[in-house]
Amino acid sequence: MAGSRAEQSHDLDALFFPRSVAVIGASTRELSIGNRIIKNLHDFGYTGLVYAINPRGEEVRGLKPYTSILDVPEEVELAHIVIPGTYVPAAMEECGRKGVKVVIVNSAGFREIGGEGEELEREVLAIAREHGIRVFGPNCQGIINTDREVRAYCNFTFTRPAEGAISIVAQSGGVAEMINQRFAELGTGVRMYASNGNACDISIPEVIRYWGSDEATRVIVVHVENLSDPAAFLEAASEVAAHKPVLGMKAGRTAEGARAVSSHTGGLARQEVVTELLFEKAGMVTFRDVEEMCQAAVAFSTQPVPRGNRVGLITNTGGPAIIATDELVEAGLVIPPLSEGTRDALTEQLHAAASISNPIDVLATAGAEHFRAAIDALMDEAEIDSIYINFVTPFFVDNESVARELVEVNKEGRKPIVCNLMTDKKEWSDTVTILREGGIPIYTFPEMAARSLAAMTRLHLLRSRESGEPVRFEDVDRDRARAIFDEAWESEHVWLSSGQVYEVLEAYGIPVARWKVACGASDAVAAAEEIGFPVVTKADSPDIVHKSDAGGVVVDLKDAGAVREVVERMEVSFDSGDLQFLIQEYLPGGRELIAGAKAEEGLGHLLMFGMGGVHVEVLKDVSFALAPISPPEAGHMMDSLRSRPILEGARGGKGVDREALLEVVGRLSQLVTEQPYIREIDLNPIMAFEDRISVVDARIGL
Ligand code: ADP
Ligand code: MG
Repeated sequence: MAGSRAEQSHDLDALFFPRSVAVIGASTRELSIGNRIIKNLHDFGYTGLVYAINPRGEEVRGLKPYTSILDVPEEVELAHIVIPGTYVPAAMEECGRKGVKVVIVNSAGFREIGGEGEELEREVLAIAREHGIRVFGPNCQGIINTDREVRAYCNFTFTRPAEGAISIVAQSGGVAEMINQRFAELGTGVRMYASNGNACDISIPEVIRYWGSDEATRVIVVHVENLSDPAAFLEAASEVAAHKPVLGMKAGRTAEGARAVSSHTGGLARQEVVTELLFEKAGMVTFRDVEEMCQAAVAFSTQPVPRGNRVGLITNTGGPAIIATDELVEAGLVIPPLSEGTRDALTEQLHAAASISNPIDVLATAGAEHFRAAIDALMDEAEIDSIYINFVTPFFVDNESVARELVEVNKEGRKPIVCNLMTDKKEWSDTVTILREGGIPIYTFPEMAARSLAAMTRLHLLRSRESGEPVRFEDVDRDRARAIFDEAWESEHVWLSSGQVYEVLEAYGIPVARWKVACGASDAVAAAEEIGFPVVTKADSPDIVHKSDAGGVVVDLKDAGAVREVVERMEVSFDSGDLQFLIQEYLPGGRELIAGAKAEEGLGHLLMFGMGGVHVEVLKDVSFALAPISPPEAGHMMDSLRSRPILEGARGGKGVDREALLEVVGRLSQLVTEQPYIREIDLNPIMAFEDRISVVDARIGL
């Protein structure tokens, strides 16, 4: 499509490629939104027709005024509504009668203020549905499209983006504008821009999907505060990210930040981990820093995605190459040695004193032919996937021809290139322009160039990760588990009893230590004899959450007398009406691991796996994934733990049964997926040995 509206018509064509725009609430006041939008449309060179709707019939910016949109003789595709919230429904009715296709409601006073505002937003949406109007907003900025065939600046802000290949969507107008501004400063163009505020109708997933089929958009940058429909987001983002880089960031990482979000846009923010997992599941590249996301987008907008994580460096100055190397290695990239053939070739082509390894130091005196030799060598080197260049502009070198040479190679698009350009941007402005216009991403610091390359490499890794179907074991007894949940539900218990928990786990084939529930000492002794000594005795009551903290766990009981004594002691100390006892096989000496899951609204369950036991909060060595998971995802959860070497048996220690452990995580994923009313489940600890895995403590909440 590279320009103009999509060939097949789409609802959003009227939003991004409007043939005519009416501003309802056009104002003669210079500093009003109703004036600013018209000014922006004019200044940006909008190619369609603009109509000013002003109830007092005043001329606005030389436009003939209409007191109502119904008086406009021609068709109106897009209308901005900038009048106070309470008048919006009436204006929407008129838009409906006029046949307007999309309305951007800039006005505030809707869901973000709660109560009446929510009511008003529902009313606006109902009118829109009745007339088949799509709504963008309310409480939003609007859109920009730099396409020369439309030049639509349907927005009241100030940054004038150049034509480019990056499209930006952000819920928050402030963030969208900030990103837009940064691209302008970086000399990078923008394709389309959208900030949809409360997003009552046209959603971010819908916009992402639209841009997915916009050829001129090469990269999509997304910033969200809350996902009202995570599943829809996942679906749209996965579809687009499979063929176009989608970069994303989520606001509200901390509890404090999440609160600021909900008071701001009126949605419920979740912790960032869930959103990041969702982004990753969709194949999006995630960021925690807006600047880093913008800088990476510049590289994504012109460079191919690397085919691996091996970087070749070229430098004409020593220090910055070391900084870059550190940053690249820390980001998990590899800097392999050059092959002998490459080294021999370069020895002939570079200065005698040049350092021919990786990084290749071509020396400050290197000219275009030296840079060319080095970059060609790396392009041909099979062991290299991407190229990092440090280029300082010495006064004694023809820097422009170096820049032109780099651009020549870049045109071939064989491997991605980033360039840390150390220069006086005024004195060497031509060099800067040659590189920029030639599509070479340039950076002011080695770290940022390295991070951008690392981000591109992350996309490669995401795209090449093993997928695979969700785990599904056929030997599970769904009905039995279901019956236990029904029983718990009917008795109005939020937490399942120990007996119920272990039965559910057994129904799903999750191995548990041999157990029995007992009432009173004699029963406990009989249970212990059946299980076999030594045993563990645990106080079992819905009131006791952390049993060991309360003195409710005694391990290694070797005979009947010991069990009796412990039970009698606990009966006194806990003094609870429905106190029972869990008698359990004693499994000493294993690694204590944790696996769990927690329901996430609209998303299914968040799975957790990691180092467990009573120190889980201190160690915080856990990894997350969204259920249902595939076997490779389960493997990834285990491999991303810091303690991975311990599990594998580092330094002579015994490792644990990896396959059995992954199976437990897979079965847990299947359990929460098939029994979705589980609110939370914790297996802590799972005792892991070289040849055996057993759960010894578990909780399930509904
Ligand atoms: P809680 O988490 O309610 O305090 P647990 O049942 O997890 O109680 O027991 C606390 C700790 O006791 C476990 O982390 C583990 O170290 C030990 N433990 C519990 N049950 C067993 C068992 N069957 N075999 C060996 N150690 C156990
Ligand atoms: Mg426990």
